[in-house]
Amino acid sequence: MLQRDELLAYLEEILNVQAFADYAPNGLQVEGRTDIKKIVTGVTACQALVDAAVERKADALLVHHGYFWKGEDACIVGMKKQRLGALLAADINLLAYHLPLDAHPELGNNTELAKRLNLQQEGVFGSETGTPIGQYGRLAQAISAEAFGKLLTRKLGREPLYIAGTDADIQTVAWCTGAAQSYLEQAAALGVDAFVTGEISEQTVHVARELGLHFFSAGHHATERGGVQALGAHLATHFGLTVEFVDIHNPV
Ligand SMILES: [Zn+2]
Repeated sequence: MLQRDELLAYLEEILNVQAFADYAPNGLQVEGRTDIKKIVTGVTACQALVDAAVERKADALLVHHGYFWKGEDACIVGMKKQRLGALLAADINLLAYHLPLDAHPELGNNTELAKRLNLQQEGVFGSETGTPIGQYGRLAQAISAEAFGKLLTRKLGREPLYIAGTDADIQTVAWCTGAAQSYLEQAAALGVDAFVTGEISEQTVHVARELGLHFFSAGHHATERGGVQALGAHLATHFGLTVEFVDIHNPV
């Protein structure tokens, strides 16, 4: 029987948790039972995902977006009481890994996005917190922005919001999953043809146009499903656990 503390120590090591200064705690956020046989994974520990974990009698819920973000109200009231109450009543552990799961070179969100898009990774960039999260690299051959948009739609199941900063074809690409639209200028400084992230802001449109690169907002949720699934598959094999990914639809 796998003990929770053994699982936590393993995750802390393989995800190199200590290397990151993050906006939320990485690791065990809510303590549940000590023995782990079944894990439910998902992108965000919303109420629907918590309910799915309870329904499936999970011992742990493993997510990319957990709780206790820097700057949020610390009081356990309202929505937060409901979510935590459901986890505690069912004795389910909540494990959350944010930036370490974006950045992991084999199991991370950015590596998983590159695999889906057949992007050959050449380097990393994009750091606010000391350790680079984003990646850059290239497609095997140059394609039109329209073709690249279709590739994103096909691989992520969601049409991207596209800003044409240039009419050149796309071969070199920088990407950073989630809400990394503020990395657009760093991406442009790399000299790439296109930048892909999850979210977009009003100003992103002008920055992309004025710096002259293609910008694709491919969905925060859509670009961040890969890491937790890859990590779950790894844990299933490594520890012989039952792991189930539950996708709570999110159009953003
Ligand atoms: Zn995210």
